[in-house]
Parts: sequence; C-alpha cells; structure tokens
Amino acid sequence: MSLFNTTYDVIVVGGGHAGSEAAAASANMGAHTLLITMNLQNIAQMSCNPAMGGIAKGQIVREIDALGGYSGIVTDKTAIQFKMLNKSKGPAMWSPRAQSDRMQFAECWRTLLEQTENLDFYQDSVNGLLFEGNTIVGVKTALGLEIKAKTVIVTAGTFLNGLIHIGEKTFGGGRAGEGASTGITEDLVAKGFEAGRMKTGTPPRVDGRSLDYTKMTEQPGDATPEKFSYLPVTKPLTKQRSCYLTYTNPEVHDLLREGFERSPMFNGRIKSTGPRYCPSIEDKINRFAEKERHQIFVEPEGWNTVEIYVNGFSTSLPEDIQDKAIRAIPGFENVKFFRYGYAIEYDYFPPTQLKHNLETKLIENLFFAGQINGTTGYEEAAAQGLMAGVNAALKTQNKEPFILKRSEAYIGVLIDDLITKGTEEPYRMFTSRAEYRTLLRQDNADLRLTEKAYKLGLASEERMNRVEEKKKKTQNLIDFIKDLSVSKEDINPILERKNLATINQSMKLYKIAARPQLSFSDFKSIDKLKNYIQEHSIDDEIIEQVEIHLKYSGYIEKEKNNADKLNRLENVPIPSTFDYSKVKSLSYEAREKLSKIQPTSISQASRISGVSPSDISVLLVYMGR
Ligand code: FAD
Repeated sequence: MSLFNTTYDVIVVGGGHAGSEAAAASANMGAHTLLITMNLQNIAQMSCNPAMGGIAKGQIVREIDALGGYSGIVTDKTAIQFKMLNKSKGPAMWSPRAQSDRMQFAECWRTLLEQTENLDFYQDSVNGLLFEGNTIVGVKTALGLEIKAKTVIVTAGTFLNGLIHIGEKTFGGGRAGEGASTGITEDLVAKGFEAGRMKTGTPPRVDGRSLDYTKMTEQPGDATPEKFSYLPVTKPLTKQRSCYLTYTNPEVHDLLREGFERSPMFNGRIKSTGPRYCPSIEDKINRFAEKERHQIFVEPEGWNTVEIYVNGFSTSLPEDIQDKAIRAIPGFENVKFFRYGYAIEYDYFPPTQLKHNLETKLIENLFFAGQINGTTGYEEAAAQGLMAGVNAALKTQNKEPFILKRSEAYIGVLIDDLITKGTEEPYRMFTSRAEYRTLLRQDNADLRLTEKAYKLGLASEERMNRVEEKKKKTQNLIDFIKDLSVSKEDINPILERKNLATINQSMKLYKIAARPQLSFSDFKSIDKLKNYIQEHSIDDEIIEQVEIHLKYSGYIEKEKNNADKLNRLENVPIPSTFDYSKVKSLSYEAREKLSKIQPTSISQASRISGVSPSDISVLLVYMGR
C-alpha cells in the first residue's frame, strides 16, 4: 500500500534509540506504525560510546526488557564485555553495564525491527508537521511527501538544527557525517512551543594497532558475566574483549590549554549547556585545575574492528591540539586518528510541555521521546521511546494512558522528573534521583513490570510465565529456609571459617542467613539445602532473590510502606480545569509554577520546585481532603 494514501496509527520520526523502541512498542501493540528516519543504515546508532547500562542506566535497560522492549536483547546479542558495577555495595546499587559491538548493535536492531509485524519503514527527512487546529495529523518530508497518521512521535535526538563544532570550524549536522534536521522546530515554535539549545560532545576514535597497551592497565570483564535480558533468547558471554586504563598528565593538560583560545567552549561560540556528568576533557582540566590526572578508558568498538573509543577524552578542541595532546598520554605516543572528537549543539523542547504519557500539552496526539526532551543517554532515550510508543498506540485504541509510578520504575522517576521539574542541562539518570531505590533494583524489574506489560499486550506469554515461575520458586525456597533447622555440626564450621561466634543448639537457617557477613553460597554444603536446590532446579537468579529477601526484607518493607503512603497522595487527582490563579492563599511562585506544569495529582504538585508543604495543604483543602 502506498505511503501516500494510508493513514498510519503511529508515525515515529527518527530511528535512534528512542525511535526504535517507540516503533517496536507501538507495532507490537497492534498499531499500524511507520518509522521514518534519515538513514536506514543507522538504526539505533550509538552516537557516542559503544556501551549500554551503568549506574541507574543498567536498571533502566532491565526495565525496558521486562516491559518487552528490545534494548536488553540487542545489547546481549552484541556485547563484547559485561560488568556488574557496584557489586561490593547493596543490591539496590548493582548496575549492569556492557560494551557492545557498535556495528553489530545497529544491525541487530534493524533485524529485530524488520521482524516486527505492523511496522513499515521509510527513509527520508521529516521537515514539517501537519496539523488540523491543535491536533497533529501527519508529517511532511524533504522529498515532498505528506503522510497521514493518527499520532506522531518525534524522536529527533541531537539532529534538530544540529551544529557541530571542532575548534574554530562549525558546520550543520545531526551527528558526524549526517545532516541536521530543519523544519520541525520551526513548526512547533509557530504553534507556541518553547524550544531551547543544549550541547554534548564526543571523544576521538583511534586505530587500536597504533597504541602501546603495555603502558596501560588491562580492564577485563566479569569472570562470570551476566546479561540484560530476562529471556533465554540471549546467553551470557563466553569470551570477552578487555578494555584498558591509562591517565592524562600535566603535560597533556598544558598541551590542551594551548588550544583554549580556539575552543568553541571557551571563546563563547558554544553558549548552550552540556552534560554535567560527561564533561569534555577541556572542561575537566579547567574546572578541576588542581587534579594532575584524569582516567582514560581505552574501549574497543567491536569484535572485528581495530577502532578504539577514547573514553574520558571528549573534546571539541581543534584537530591539531587533539593530535598533540593525546600523544602525551602513556600508550598513545604513536596514535593514528580515525575520527576527531567534536561537540554538537541542538534544539530541545523543555519537557514540562509534556503530560505523563509523553504527549504534548499543546498539540493532541503528538508525542516526544528521547534527547528532544532534554535528556542524554541511550537508555534514557530508549525508555522514553518505549513509553511514547505504548501511549501513542493506546491513544489510537481509545485506551487509558500507561504511566509508571516513581515507586514502580526508574522509567517512572525519569518521566516524572522531566515533566514535573523540567531540566536546564542534559538530564541523565542516577540512583540518587529515585527515592525508592531499594525497590527499584536491576534483579527485580521483571517482577515489578512484566505483568503490566503483559496486560498491555507488549510482553509475551513466555515472559509472563517466567516471572510467575520466578515468583513461585523464590517464595517456595524462602518458605523452605524458614522451616529448615540446622544443627550446630552443620553450621559451626561455616561460622568458624568466617570468624563468627558459633551456636550451641540447632537454629533456623533463616535467622543465621540474615547475618551480613554470610552469603547464601556459604550454606550450599548443607545437605538438605543442597538436595532442595537440585530437586527443584533452583538457579542463580532465584538464589539472588532469596538472598536479597533474607538480608534486606526489612528495608524493602519499610520502603514499600513509604511508597504506599505517597501513592495515596498520588491518588488525589487535580482536575485539569483547576484555576490556580484564583487561589490567593497559594504563594505567588506556587500559583505560577502550578499553572505552568498543570500537575495531575497532589503528589506531582508536591514535587514541583517552589511549591511548599503549606501550598500542598491549601490544595488538599480545595480537593476536599
Ligand atoms: P538519536 O540517537 O540522536 O537518534 C535520532 C534519530 O532520528 C537519528 O537516527 C536521525 O537520523 C533521526 N532523525 C532526526 N531528525 C529526523 C527527521 N527530521 N526526519 C527523519 N529522521 C530524523 N550520551 C551520553 O549519555 N553521554 C555522552 O557523553 C554523549 N555524548 C554524545 C556526543 C555526541 C556527539 C552525540 C551526537 C550524542 C551523544 N550522546 C551522549 C547522546 C546519545 O547519543 C543520545 O542521548 C541518544 O542517542 C539519544 O537517542 P535519541 O533516540 O533521542 O536520538
């Protein structure tokens, strides 16, 4: 069927991380979906480092997987190294991270999307949006096509009026080697949207054959790597590629300083704000002048390529300066460049212009997801894409929006933060942004989310069955341990090995196992437990759940109670027609902010900066509480 005479349920503009998850989610929910992207060769291209996950981001990837998204599966299938970060801390902090093969990552995404029913593809650049009044009805493309849709999701990443900077050189582009996108911002601003500018940067890529690894420290992956997807379609890595660690030094810093006058960051040509937690090397040596060295992680870009990503050396200094300075890093003396580092400025739309379902407040049926909302990172983008895809599909099916609470998922925290607080610098997720991080662990994303996704028609029956089995096996093993008495002969050798006080009579294992110095693996030699594990095919995933229960169930219960209390406030809705300007007992700032954000519940109102507890008391009275 021609693109011209079809009205799609959903058009996704942009096939980056947000667009790919959005297209997969809406199509998998039965919505007839069209993915329009500038270059079909670059589906889910990793613009910066070839890695997924990391602290808090890893939890997001597991949540995407639990909901039936593809980012976890693609990462597993293309990983070259896996690490569980923060393993020495409590389980709320454990964060999976994988290096991926950059080229395989994009190819794997494309293959999965091509295997998705209800999904059409078209390569072109969208340069305008079609409206009827305040409703979107389709898009216009550079080739002059007008394509109709009931809903449109814009996921244009860093491409909207993108401007690339390397030293004194500036040119239009959405990413190195790719053109910028024009027309969308202009159409939206004409409709009354507020737009802003942000900036991000990337390091050089170099030829691994020109590096001397003997001057660096090897950073291998985990000895027993895990994986992201809860499904058995992927397997943990059996071989991995190592990264390497080296450092900058005062000589490198001096050489970099020589280029500061020609730096777009310092001579005022870049005015927009960059990611605070991913600063450029020039920013680091400028802000932390007292630091004599900074870490440089030397990361392979894939299995079969010699290209290396120089993590920690993001820069937009002139090429000659990049060239000279990098050679002063141990191991880089004879380096050959593949690509120079650069910075990019792009348009974003302050996300307070969105509702919780990622639909814009101004234009009905128009959704935004990813970097366009002021975020940074593949994981943050992919999560929003999935949620926008689900919600656009739901909208076409006249169903209620799908919204995750802050106590249910990092994805809930991310979207609530964006639409309630907005962001003035590229927003990335941290565990500290989540008030219920003991609940939001990477090990239990499936227990938290898969049932919801199954009900939506997004997660498969296989996923749901696995979650049911995980729950059942975990509870049965907990019950077994609660009942199991262990003799002093069984337990004392274990306690002695750990220099712990021994016991004089039999005790319930449940009590002993809660001790922080002991781990579940210490008890595996106890016959009754060993037999149970064998007979019931208990795997490491179940043992991890039981161990977390034994050690942390007190904290988890407490956090659940707190979340329940807050969720009661969440259930006090504020009508969208409520006129804050008439409530004179609210502070002036609260009236202004509440009118702008239009929170849907008392709880959301309480998270808006400038809205005080006394403002909330006033609102509660107005809502009849
Ligand atoms: P993108 O991945 O940018 O994808 C957008 C897609 O939309 C592209 O495929 C593009 O072709 C397509 N598109 C755009 N406009 C149109 C249009 N009008 N019509 C059709 N198709 C269109 N993240 C970090 O976490 N840390 C970093 O240090 C970091 N550094 C970065 C450095 C650079 C130079 C760049 C470019 C990005 C960097 N990122 C970094 C950001 C990371 O790449 C993004 O957060 C992530 O890719 C955003 O995903 P997205 O889907 O929103 O957009």
